[in-house]
Amino acid sequence: MSLDKDDRQRMVQALGLSEDEVRERYWRVTGSVVQMKIVDGHCIFYDNGCTVHLGRPWRCGQWPLHPSILSDENNFKTIKASCPGLNQDMSYDEFCRILRELMARQGNIHC
Ligand code: SF4
Repeated sequence: MSLDKDDRQRMVQALGLSEDEVRERYWRVTGSVVQMKIVDGHCIFYDNGCTVHLGRPWRCGQWPLHPSILSDENNFKTIKASCPGLNQDMSYDEFCRILRELMARQGNIHC
């Protein structure tokens, strides 16, 4: 997952380190693309939960309300199976209805 400028600033602030330190310890920089390092197959901040919760990228903050669910029920099934916070009794249609309402409220109806 790539980090935009706001993601990077929020993460630096949450960690209380300099941007150089955060880049060295936690980021993988490839040209202009900045991503979190992957350790043991998962995000470097994962340790029985997110250890940078207040500074997490905006895409992480959307979880599990990811727009990709609207176009593919398989994404819903995958996320539902991996997220204990998601009501396991909720149908795909009901989830899409709620997600569309939330996105419309946020003015994010084009995702
Ligand atoms: S929620 Fe936290 S641990 Fe999970 S991918 Fe995002 S930053 Fe990493």
